[in-house]
This record gives sequence, C-alpha cells and structure tokens, in this order.
Amino acid sequence: MQITVLGYWGAYPAAGEATSGYLFQDRNTNILLDCGSAVLSELQKHIEISNLDAVILSHYHADHVADIHCLQYAVMLESLQHKRDRNLPIYAYSKHSQFESLTFEDYTEGIALREESEIAIGDFSFSFIKTVHPEICMAVKITHYGKTAVYTADTEYFDKLTDFSRYADILLCEASLYREYEGKVEGHMSGAQAGKLAAEADVGALLLTHLPRYGNHERLREEAGEYYRGNITLARTALKIRL
Ligand SMILES: [Zn+2]
Ligand SMILES: [Zn+2]
Repeated sequence: MQITVLGYWGAYPAAGEATSGYLFQDRNTNILLDCGSAVLSELQKHIEISNLDAVILSHYHADHVADIHCLQYAVMLESLQHKRDRNLPIYAYSKHSQFESLTFEDYTEGIALREESEIAIGDFSFSFIKTVHPEICMAVKITHYGKTAVYTADTEYFDKLTDFSRYADILLCEASLYREYEGKVEGHMSGAQAGKLAAEADVGALLLTHLPRYGNHERLREEAGEYYRGNITLARTALKIRL
C-alpha cells in the first residue's frame, strides 16, 4: 500500500496546507481517511476525484470533516458529467446529528461505522477502536497484504490503544501537545506519549501527525525519541509512505 499525507495540522491549516487527510492506495483502489480543511484541494494533486472509491471519517470534528460537503458537490458534478458512474460510500459513526448529511441524493452514501465493524474495500481491510476524545472518535487499523498501518485519529493515551497498535508497520499517531501541556488538554496526546505508545506497541515506524499550530515540531520528535528508538518522522504535506 501507499499512504500519502494530504494534511496533518490539528484545528486549522497553515497557508496552502490542510488539516487531517490521508490517501491510502494500491493499483486498483483509492481510499480517503478523514477529509479536513483543504484536503479536497490536496487530494486532486494525487488522484482524480472520480477515482476515489471510499471515504472513512474518524469523527466529526471540523478539522477531520470540513471538506466533506464540497466533496459531495464534486461527486455530484462529476457524475452529471459522466466521469463517475457509482456513488461514493462515506463510512462514519452513525449516532451523530451529522451522519444523515453524509448521504447526498444518489451521489454519496453514509454508511454506519461501529467499533466492531470490519470493512473490506478492494484489497484493504479496516478495523476500529473507540478512542478517548470529547467526541466519539475511531482509531483505524488498515491492513493490506500482511502490512499494517494504525491511525490513532484524535485521542488521549489509553492502554487498549497499545494492543490495537501492536506490531503495526507504521503508527500514524497524533502528537498535538508539547510536554508541558501533557494531561492538561482533554482528548489529545503529547509527542512523548506518542513515543511511549510506539515503543510499547513495538511498531515498525512512527509518524507524528495532527501537529499543533505553535512551537517547534522538532521538539515533538525529540520528546517521542526519549521513549521510541525506531524511525520517527514528522508528517508533512505530500509525504508518501510505501509498505
Ligand atoms: Zn483533530
Ligand atoms: Zn477531534
């Protein structure tokens, strides 16, 4: 599989960049994981929207869903121009006031996601665990031909996430906080906690993402490195990872 970082900022994007969005691809399949602010613009640098097979949303905070309705317009307009002949499934937690809006006429279809869900799309499979966050949020495990990526989405550090992430080839871990804010901001992790999780889960590599709009991100990497001895990368726009 190939993973492309479309956006990695928490809360709001820097100029010319995007909040959460990741493209998972193989030769036949294109799946978007989260659709934050400016992700739709970044996505088109890598694929035609008409070739998008599915969207999975971790949760409904704006930095993860802000572009979803513009994506629905895109699917409608491409369908009307006969560039697309199928609807776009959008998987998300269903017990939320915004779930209904994920279905847009015949163009996009909201599909209910539960913690127990196992989804297969092409040769990718996806499983989930609820995170610790003010809004119901799902961390996602992505498996493709024996390779595994885990995306923590937004969360505090919690024990079950270690089991869920165990031996992943790569952990895409949120690192919203510098050490001095650890435990002081509900629902998010520090770089050090991301490092601790990566070490305890014995993952193959660590990508720090959902980065804050302040401070020096290099410090997040250093703080993670106090716990995790493997390869640590700071997310950046258009970064590609092949597994
Ligand atoms: Zn977020
Ligand atoms: Zn959130």
